[in-house]
Amino acid sequence: MAATRKTAKARRSTRAADLAEPASRGHVLVVEDEHDLQDLLRYNLEREGFRVTVAGRGEEALQLAATEAPDLVLLDLMLPGIDGLEVCRTLRNDGSTSTMPIVMLTAKGEEADIVTGLELGADDYITKPFSPRVLVARLKAVMRRRGETPSRSEDASIRVGELVVDPQRHEVRVSGEPISLTLTEFRIVQTLARRRGRVFTRNQIVEAVQGDRVAVTDRSVDVHVVSLRRKLGSAGRYIQTVRGVGYRLEET
Ligand code: CA
Repeated sequence: MAATRKTAKARRSTRAADLAEPASRGHVLVVEDEHDLQDLLRYNLEREGFRVTVAGRGEEALQLAATEAPDLVLLDLMLPGIDGLEVCRTLRNDGSTSTMPIVMLTAKGEEADIVTGLELGADDYITKPFSPRVLVARLKAVMRRRGETPSRSEDASIRVGELVVDPQRHEVRVSGEPISLTLTEFRIVQTLARRRGRVFTRNQIVEAVQGDRVAVTDRSVDVHVVSLRRKLGSAGRYIQTVRGVGYRLEET
């Protein structure tokens, strides 16, 4: 008797969890023309509790993005008709979709397209072939980062392992020790730290750190990063080079 009651209770709570889960994860618009990949993505995302809408062409993607207002667009770049970069550009230029998180799906060797996409405002990219688990984790990270209140993350200290970037005190510490950086080096690490895990292209770094007292070119970004890493010592490893694309601060 007691056992029966327990089972019924367990069943009820499982059902409640099933009902609560899908609503919390959000709605993903998958833009991909290959049917195998459409199925793989739908299966893995739905299993994680996301709601999934699939578009096979760029035109359809633009229409669904506007009408369905998804929480994130997972966008293959190689599409028939309007290609992924054009979809990205159009979404960014349209008021109703301009802030919609976009994660590009790309093939190996498309670094130039990745750079263009990031500069058009895509939030991240994933290279095919991908691990579904990694893909889901990356989508969640993008959604989480988008959900952070900018005003709070602007001034808050950011910690990655032994590295602390403290925008309010204009200070970087490694294992508690303040590190003496140039203004440009500080601005670079601060830019990367504000959106940890996101890849910044050299142009984006230049734009973010450029100011009255700072003149940086995309080529000199590499030189500043080398110097920055050296000064950070053991924590220099958190600044990762993404070959052919740019830099990011490791997300731990
Ligand atoms: Ca494709």
